[in-house]
Parts: sequence; C-alpha cells; structure tokens
Amino acid sequence: MKKQYGLTTKIFFGLIAGLITGLILYPMREVPFIENYIINFLFQLVGGAFINSIRMMIVPLVFVSLTMGAAQIGSITRLGRIGTKTIAFYLVTTAIAISIAILIAIIVQPGIGTGIELGDAAFEARQSPAFVNVLVNMIPRNPIKAMAEGKMLQIIVFAILTGTGLTVLGDKAKKVTELFEQLNTLVLKLVELIMYAAPYGVFALIARTFATLGFEMMAPLAWYMLCVLGALLIHATLTYGTLLTAFTKLNPIKFLKNFSPAMLVAFSTASSSATLPVTLKTARERLGVSERLSSFTLPLGATINMDGTAIMQGVATIFIAQLFNVDIGVGGFLTIILTATLASIGTAGVPGVGLIMLAMVLDQVGLPVEAIALIMGIDRILDMSRTAINITGDMVCTLIIAKTEGELNEEVFNSDKTVAAK
Ligand code: ASP
Repeated sequence: MKKQYGLTTKIFFGLIAGLITGLILYPMREVPFIENYIINFLFQLVGGAFINSIRMMIVPLVFVSLTMGAAQIGSITRLGRIGTKTIAFYLVTTAIAISIAILIAIIVQPGIGTGIELGDAAFEARQSPAFVNVLVNMIPRNPIKAMAEGKMLQIIVFAILTGTGLTVLGDKAKKVTELFEQLNTLVLKLVELIMYAAPYGVFALIARTFATLGFEMMAPLAWYMLCVLGALLIHATLTYGTLLTAFTKLNPIKFLKNFSPAMLVAFSTASSSATLPVTLKTARERLGVSERLSSFTLPLGATINMDGTAIMQGVATIFIAQLFNVDIGVGGFLTIILTATLASIGTAGVPGVGLIMLAMVLDQVGLPVEAIALIMGIDRILDMSRTAINITGDMVCTLIIAKTEGELNEEVFNSDKTVAAK
C-alpha cells in the first residue's frame, strides 16, 4: 500500500527539496535554459500562482473574519465583567507579545547587512504615512473602493463597524449574521483548499529564492526564524510567568507541566481550533478551571487571542522592512502594534492563516505584500510553534480570570492526578 503523508510532512518535503534544487541550480543560474525556462518560468509559474491564490483570500478573509470577530466581542462584552476582563487580558497580552517581537527584531536585525539585492521584487519603498494621517484615513469614504484597492485599515474599520452593528441589531439582523458565519466557513474552506497546493508552492518559491540568491538567503531566514522562536520563548516564560505569579501565585513550571499535552497537540496540528477539545479537557482535569468559565474563555481565545501569531507578524514586518531597507519609524511601530493586534484577532485558529493576515500589517506600514513569498517556505515550522503559544496565552488568561473570579480548584492544579473539576 502507498504510504500517505500528512500535509505538514509534504510541506517539509517541498521545503527541503526546494532548498536543495535551488542550491544546485544556483551556480547555473545564468545558463539561458535554466534561467528562462526553469527559474523564471516553471518556478515563477507555480510559486507565483500559489502566492496569488493566497493574496486572493486576503480581502475576503480580513473583512469576513473581522466582522465576525467584532460581532463576537460585542456580544461578549455584553456578558458583563467577566467578558470585558477576558477581552482586556487577551488584548493586552497580544500587544505585549508584539512589542517583544519588535524589540527582538530591532536588536537582532535579522534582515540587515544581508547584502541581498531585493530590486527584483519590483518594489519601490513607499513612504510610511504619518501616524495622524493613518488615523484620519482609517475611515473609508467608500468601503467598496477600499476593498477593491485592498486598503486594509479602511476595510478593518468597516468590518468592525459592521460587526458592532450586527451585535446591536441582534435578532433583527439574524440572517445577515448567519450569512457572515457561512461566508466565514466558505473563506476558511478556500484557504484549506489552497493549502493543499502548499507543498508545490513552497517548493517553487524556495527553489526560486535559493537559485537566485544562493546561500545568501539562508542566514537571514535562519535569523528570522530564531527571532520568532526566541520571542515566543521570552513571551511564554517572562510575560506568562510574571502574569501567572503576580495574579494567581500559581507555579508556572507546574502550569507548563500540566498544560504540555495540549501544547503538543497544538504544535503537531498547527491549529488552535483543532486543539480546542484537548485545551478544554486539560483546563478542567489538570488545571482545575471550572467548566462554566473555561467553556466561555477558551473557545473565545482560540478565535481571537493569538499572541504567537502576533509575534510572528511583528518579527516578520521588521525583518521585511530591514530587507527592503525601509525605515519604519516610531509611528510605524505603533501602527504595527495596532494592526498586528487586529490581524491576530482576525486570524482563524487553523494552519497558515496568520501568514495571510500578515499582508494586512505589511500593507499598513507601506511594505510589499509580495515579501510574504520570502518567508512562506519556512512558515509551517513557525506556525506549529506559534500555535502552541497561542493556546498557552488563552490558558494563562483563563487561569487568571478563574483565580480572580473564584472559578479555580487549586487542589486539582497542584495534584499530580487528573481530576475532573466541578
Ligand atoms: N495556526 C495558528 C493557530 O491556529 C494561526 C496562524 O497563525 O496561522 O493558532
């Protein structure tokens, strides 16, 4: 019988095969046949088609998922104190995550001094707009035009308004809400279908990058990966450790030990949503959070709270700015924090979506969306790691709310046995 490989394995094969092929072709890159038919036709065709399929999803994904996100947040804040507290925690931890990511990328400078000529990306560095203009131009004069032109921030504002409107209208707009829910399912299905082509797309993109740039691209990509992984680690230990200790006095090591089964599932599936059943079970049986609370905060977290994704988006934006020699400036950092927070809210808990939502952040700071192609090839590894952090963030916030609301059974948390929480 033929062995069936999972998508993740296939993407890894594509990555490695692309790397090897690219490096083999590099010395021959100027041979006319290789240059014209392999690098600039075959690889460009497959890689370009893949990237365009992803770009095709950006506007629908951002609009539909943010409308749904806003509608959800709206109806949850109506639930009162616990709802507001949960959302506040989720947002604050995400903003901290991005700040750590930006700081690390600025210190390590993964994209500086690479000697790489990115002129062939056909990109002229656009001036990042002044912060005040970013604010004023957030309001679209014409939402349809904003969508047609892919003006992300304007689309976001319109989506948030639409979502809020849907919450306020409640049952009166039930059909429209249902329509958005179904559109959301449809858009995510399309992303899933496109992802089936990922092994080939990744192969072609990586092969083309390395056939043109050779080993030169290896070091910056490795540094980029290390920065993301480092920021994820720092956020998980420092931010979560401090928050847990300060608000709950629970032992962070014990927390990690009890929660690790869920983290492993998140790592292997690269999907917060797919991990949700395990996250819920772990929360109740090994961490002692009441069912009442966890059944509300964890599904919400799996949908809107993505600290790991935000970290990738923060590092990626700075990395790409460095590669293209664009000075982002302080206003730019604020824009990144704002848009990456929104982008992570809009990111669905399924594999690969965080990278598509990155387009929204890049666009806001005047960077080329095409640059996603540079990091697409290695994203799966980072996707797996950031998903583990995404659900850890949900759990830490849940524990804090549980402790402060008297919904935590510390005996369960501290015991080594698995006990069902009441
Ligand atoms: N895969 C991530 C998750 O499910 C989302 C992403 O960053 O793509 O949490």
